[in-house]
Amino acid sequence: MLLAFSLWLIASDAKAYSFTFCMRWAIQHTDSNIGEDYYLTDTIMKARGAKVDVFQGPNGGVFLGTFYANETNGCFTVNSTSNAALTLNMYAESRIGGSNNITIKAFPSIAAMNSNTVPFWSIAANPGGSGTFYYNNTAGVVSNLIAWGTFSAYWVDQATSPRLSGTRTMRLVSAICAPTGEGSCMTDVGIGYIQPGAEQKKFLVGHEVGHWTHSQWMGSTSPVGLDYSPNSSDPDCAFSGVGDHALRSKEYANEAFVEGFAQYLSTLAYNNYAQTDAWFKYYKNIAAGDTDGPAYADLRNDNWKVNVEDGFFGDWGGPSNWQENMCFWTDGRSVEMDWQRFYWDYRTNTGHCCDVPCSAATPPTHYQIFRHLEYTFDTPEQWGHSTAWDQFADTINNHPALGQSSLVSRWNLFSNCNGIDQ
Ligand SMILES: [Zn+2]
Repeated sequence: MLLAFSLWLIASDAKAYSFTFCMRWAIQHTDSNIGEDYYLTDTIMKARGAKVDVFQGPNGGVFLGTFYANETNGCFTVNSTSNAALTLNMYAESRIGGSNNITIKAFPSIAAMNSNTVPFWSIAANPGGSGTFYYNNTAGVVSNLIAWGTFSAYWVDQATSPRLSGTRTMRLVSAICAPTGEGSCMTDVGIGYIQPGAEQKKFLVGHEVGHWTHSQWMGSTSPVGLDYSPNSSDPDCAFSGVGDHALRSKEYANEAFVEGFAQYLSTLAYNNYAQTDAWFKYYKNIAAGDTDGPAYADLRNDNWKVNVEDGFFGDWGGPSNWQENMCFWTDGRSVEMDWQRFYWDYRTNTGHCCDVPCSAATPPTHYQIFRHLEYTFDTPEQWGHSTAWDQFADTINNHPALGQSSLVSRWNLFSNCNGIDQ
């Protein structure tokens, strides 16, 4: 009796509060609502995995701990004996992944990145009692980087089984690509440089994150290099602007594969793969007066909207198998958009392969596609600039250990109709 009485007294004195805080990133976007499925007009998104320091009282008050929001709903729970006002320091940092193994940080400058100074927003919280409460940060460059970067990495990873394993990091910074001195890029050490002013382009951030995801599965996006050599004599397949490559430039096959695969992963982040239709907005603003301006006049007039599923003459993005339909075929060369459309078809189409009934009408999984790349890169063959398709074809056709023989006819048919089998 005495013991029970004592417990009742303690419980009465120390009333417990349980606050569930659901964090949201403020987002801006200038390339949305063109037919894709996710984040069309939203001004906030779930802050998946956001890091939050919680204080009782003002910023710097009684420290209650560091919390990471749940990657699915952006929420976390704090228990407290006090119902006083709280301060939530919400960082431009997130932790996602099947075993909380992926850490993403965003920075406003290279100097901030080099000193690992992760920006945070200090948010006053006055819950007034136990319950669930929603808070968001304020919009801006860094919020856009962490929001689009986290979502595009998370959305592809959570749909992959098994997911990426091992400790992974990605840093996104608002800065011109340091290795090349122009545009945006992702390095093999996981630094994504997003050109200042482009942080609100979700398909661009999704593209650079796509390079990161590719690199995590392969160990690297190499052996590729940066020699695109888009030296087509046909303007429809040439490009001389920023980065020396663009959506429809004819490049060495390996480079076209790497860029097209990143375009595919960006497409995959913002479009539902349970459907076959997919829309993508290209992000290189090629002006009418540029050297390449005339060749991109149709895309410019269509506000850079690309129909990833189907390519027709005079339609958004232009015809599928761009290289052969618009230029001329060159062995060992291919076009980024052709790879992008190939992977989307290969991943999502059902019941047929390029309008032809085929024995592998069931799509591969996310993982099977990553595994195909991983396995191919692991095979000790000599890579050249021009061999990407040949080596992927060799792997899936001749290596039973890959376990994807049921996908061979599907691979071959979709490769052919999208024109990447060069
Ligand atoms: Zn790229």
